[in-house]
Amino acid sequence: LIQILNTIFIFAQITAVMIIFTKDAQKMEQKLVRYNTKLQKLASVDALTGLWNRRSMWEYIRAVEYDYEVGNAGFVSIAIADIDFFKKINDTYGHDAGDKVLKAVAGLFMDKMKTYGRVCRWGGEEFLFVFYGRNGDAAYDALQEIYDEIHRLTVPYENEEIRITMTFGLEEYDKNDGMEMAIRRADEKLYQGKETGRDKIVY
Ligand code: GH3
Ligand code: MG
Ligand code: MG
Repeated sequence: LIQILNTIFIFAQITAVMIIFTKDAQKMEQKLVRYNTKLQKLASVDALTGLWNRRSMWEYIRAVEYDYEVGNAGFVSIAIADIDFFKKINDTYGHDAGDKVLKAVAGLFMDKMKTYGRVCRWGGEEFLFVFYGRNGDAAYDALQEIYDEIHRLTVPYENEEIRITMTFGLEEYDKNDGMEMAIRRADEKLYQGKETGRDKIVY
């Protein structure tokens, strides 16, 4: 009888230990999944502005190219925007003020682009827009709205109201040339805009 009881007791102990370990493993796995999601987000989002970063924008662009290929996207347009004389803002008000301007601009873009496609922080004070399902003309209208909002934007900093202007280069995507070319052309137009007085959309 003692032997039987002993066996049952040991068996119960083993079962208990197994249940505890399984629960721990499940908890650990859930934790890992959560960390993984967090890391993925950290890797695709720009820390300062909360916008998509360049890397994740490329993933999106590849997906858009595919949609275009299979006839789901319709037209696609690309724009690049750059804040005018941004260095002067940093020099005049300080780097923190510059950061605050970047966040304000990003917030405005994010809000506006929800219905038009996607925007990312392409570089320091440069932003790239993908207009999904919009040809150049339609993207131009959308960009004009954004341009007007930038004109209305004031960023409070200490006792000042910082105002900015931006220059935009816009290009319709052409399947034969590819996305890299569309981006390069948009960038060239942005440069043209900078050369010819800034604060404008070049299309
Ligand atoms: P332009 O009209 O020709 O674009 O002139 P610009 O002064 O905007 O251009 P420039 O490329 O000379 O300066 C860009 C500045 O943006 C320089 C850099 O210090 C600043 N910058 C880049 N990233 C950040 C950032 O994350 N925060 C702040 N505060 N400044 C940044
Ligand atoms: Mg600039
Ligand atoms: Mg720049």
